[in-house]
Amino acid sequence: MDPLGLKVILITCLVFVPLERLFALHPEQKVFRRAWGNDLIFLLLNGLVTKLGMLAVIVASLFVAERIVPTSVQDTVGALPFWIQIPLVILLTDLGIYWIHRMFHAVPWLWRFHEIHHSSEELDWLAATRVHPVDQILTRGSPLLVVIALGFSVWSISVCALLFHWQAFLVHSNVRIGFGPLRLLLVSPAFHHWHHSRDREARDMNFAGQLSFLDALFGTLHLPQGRMPTAYGLDQPVRQRYVLQLLYPFIGDRARQYLPVQTEAQPANPSLEGATHPPGR
Ligand SMILES: [Zn+2]
Ligand SMILES: [Zn+2]
Repeated sequence: MDPLGLKVILITCLVFVPLERLFALHPEQKVFRRAWGNDLIFLLLNGLVTKLGMLAVIVASLFVAERIVPTSVQDTVGALPFWIQIPLVILLTDLGIYWIHRMFHAVPWLWRFHEIHHSSEELDWLAATRVHPVDQILTRGSPLLVVIALGFSVWSISVCALLFHWQAFLVHSNVRIGFGPLRLLLVSPAFHHWHHSRDREARDMNFAGQLSFLDALFGTLHLPQGRMPTAYGLDQPVRQRYVLQLLYPFIGDRARQYLPVQTEAQPANPSLEGATHPPGR
């Protein structure tokens, strides 16, 4: 029994810690950066919470599938060859992730949950785990519900989930690994680092999880050549404590002003002062 997924965590550490030392984008950033302990708790506990949430999604998918999706559709989809199912599952799930992620940025009460993910001021593989469970279950669970209900095979869904898992760690990691021309097809570290950037020009851009061309298609691509962001995070930092971050979306605006503020690393970019995120609020 390994409910916390300690073996996977160990393998992930062994892959990404050396990778970030060898190809560091921000070499001055330490392995034990500020608030790494906070993110470690997210890594250990969120995995468990997400597994339970996903179990609920699978049960809901079977319920939906039985009542809404015709058996003929499920049989046809399930009979497709593996090499067709995999790109289809990636495309359908990433379309779902793109629009749900965009909604999390646009709808104020959803942004309160997603704000936790954007509160990291130093990005590395571990920052990928700082996601509020409500955000994680809705963003990953909704597209999963659709592909299960449509009848895609367990194998193809599992392979895609594994690819998504590793890509999520890679795109947050502190690496300067370019994808060359593939950057226009796949989400790269540069693509997702711009999503976390404090630069005004990058606000509410780059929503895709795996397929960067979706942002090009829907007019939200921001991937300037030869430049990388220098500052990440929110204008009004959220305190870096696990329990406070879990409760944060449920705390009213008036009560929030009494929360102690703590920053990880203040970006020295005066042009960003006064900017809000998401825009217009
Ligand atoms: Zn976001
Ligand atoms: Zn992210």
